[in-house]
Order: sequence, then structure tokens, then C-alpha cells
Amino acid sequence: MPTPPHLTEDDIQHYIPDPYFSRGKKYFAHNPIHNPAVRNDRLEGYCTGTEPEPYWVVVTFAGDNLRATHCSCPLGGQCKHVVALLLLWANEPEGFVKRQAIDVALRTMTREELVALVDEMLKREPQLEDLLNTSSPPKIQKRQTRRPRRLSAGPSRTVRGR
Ligand SMILES: [Zn+2]
Repeated sequence: MPTPPHLTEDDIQHYIPDPYFSRGKKYFAHNPIHNPAVRNDRLEGYCTGTEPEPYWVVVTFAGDNLRATHCSCPLGGQCKHVVALLLLWANEPEGFVKRQAIDVALRTMTREELVALVDEMLKREPQLEDLLNTSSPPKIQKRQTRRPRRLSAGPSRTVRGR
């Protein structure tokens, strides 16, 4: 299973140069990161910011290279919050909780849990509802397996044949 590479401060500065690196380093001294977690080659955590809600920070790697950064702050990534998360990984990797990869985690959820999750996602990001409208509706395949007749809906040959 891929894990994020071991990082030094130089690596982080290389990924995210000044002024954000220096700002992030100062910020890091105030322990701004909460609930840090690692999922395969992805780091995530909350970072205290200027807004009441903490920012959500995600960094993904591809091998030893940084692939993408995301932050819910106005900059959207490559910011001091990302630097703070990376500095925590460089200094205290043992503080990160290990979580399942997202696809694995989703597969282990029940239908009800998935519906609740999508519901919550749409509450936070209402424009994602577009995805429901634009994608073609899922095709419901008639199952070929035998089911109790009382559950079958609509016209049915088997009923007529009785
Ligand atoms: Zn940020």
C-alpha cells in the first residue's frame, strides 16, 4: 500500500515556496492541525484558520512527488495550511491516524450509510446535485433470480400463467 514519502522541511519548501512556506512554518508553531489522518498516499486534516470553521486540507502524493493539494480556504491549496499539514507529517508522522482508502471505506458502508453520506455532501455542496441530474439514470436490471412472487411489481407473466 503506498504511503506518503518521508519529508524534510526543504522538501516542503520546494513544494510550496515562500511566502507560503514561511507563513506556514510560523503557523505550525501554534499547533493548528486537528484530526490528521493518512489514507494510502494521501494526508488529510483540519486546520484552524481565520474563519470559525476550520479548513479542510488534503494532500495527495504520487510516489515521492506531491501530486495535488486542496484546502477549503480562499486560496484553495498551496497555502500555509497545506504547509502546516506537511510539517506535521515531517515532524510527527505517528500522530496521523491510519484510515482506509476512500474506495475501500465506501465499499464497506451500507446502503443507508451511503445515502446519508451523499445527503450530507449535498447539504454542504448543493451544486453537486447537478451530478444526479446530468448522469443518466441508473438502469435497474430485472433480476433473473427467483424471488417470492408477492414482491414482484407490475405485470408479470408468471402471475398470468397461474
Ligand atoms: Zn489554506
